[in-house]
Amino acid sequence: MEVVDTPTPDTGARLPWTCPHQPLCPPAEAADHDAASIRVIHPEQGWVLLCNGVIRFDDTGELLPDGRAIPPQRDGSRASA
Ligand SMILES: [Zn+2]
Repeated sequence: MEVVDTPTPDTGARLPWTCPHQPLCPPAEAADHDAASIRVIHPEQGWVLLCNGVIRFDDTGELLPDGRAIPPQRDGSRASA
């Protein structure tokens, strides 16, 4: 039997969707969470919603699904969270 829509313990319970991508997008907790696919784009408001639930703003600041905020990285490099 093939199970195709089982949420991962990490992210599935908190998101309104299950990541449909293969390979799965990195979870919000992962260092490379920026690599997740974009699900929703609001350019007029300056933010995008990534597949893993991370909201990324135009100034590179981020808001994680658990409520943590990551400040903008002005020099273009990101500190590891
Ligand atoms: Zn995904």
